[in-house]
Amino acid sequence: MTFAPSNLTASGEEKTFCAVHTNVETGLKCNKCGRYMCVKCAVKTPVGYRCRDCVYQQQSAFFTASSRDYIVALLVSLALNFPIAYILMRIGGGSLFLVIIASIPIGGFIGEVVNRAVGKRRGRYTYLVAAAGIIISGIIAALLSPQVQLYFSVLSSNRGPDSGEILQAILFQLLVPVIYLVLCAGTVIARLRYGR
Ligand SMILES: [Zn+2]
Ligand SMILES: [Zn+2]
Repeated sequence: MTFAPSNLTASGEEKTFCAVHTNVETGLKCNKCGRYMCVKCAVKTPVGYRCRDCVYQQQSAFFTASSRDYIVALLVSLALNFPIAYILMRIGGGSLFLVIIASIPIGGFIGEVVNRAVGKRRGRYTYLVAAAGIIISGIIAALLSPQVQLYFSVLSSNRGPDSGEILQAILFQLLVPVIYLVLCAGTVIARLRYGR
């Protein structure tokens, strides 16, 4: 077999190209499937450089959750967080202090229940789905809280000169649920994504 001179490297061997980026010359091979890959495609793993396909397949074997698990994770986080967030927004006028000390243990608790509800199966997106459940139920709970309801009714009945002040007060009231959601959802993400 003969090769055109342009297909040969300086040392006289055949030039090899990345399987994905077919115009990028590379001598690097995936140590699992043996395909050539450029530096963009190579992923460093504990067992050497591998191509993205092999790494993705490896991860898929690690993630065993089914689509049913995602539905369970969403429903469990919605159902658990809604009453907790609703009560938290009601008692102590949605106190910032209370929210700061309670949100992290609550997130840990919800994360643990979700983990058990999905049979401890790992899912690529379980943490995102559970965090979405926390945020959706938390926003609904915050909008239903008496403080926010009161301010909304005042705002809709009063378009006078002090409506700017009322709007500021609403934004301040919304700060409490936002801090709760960030801390609680952040803890759930930490638990489900990294906590193993
Ligand atoms: Zn490979
Ligand atoms: Zn490449």
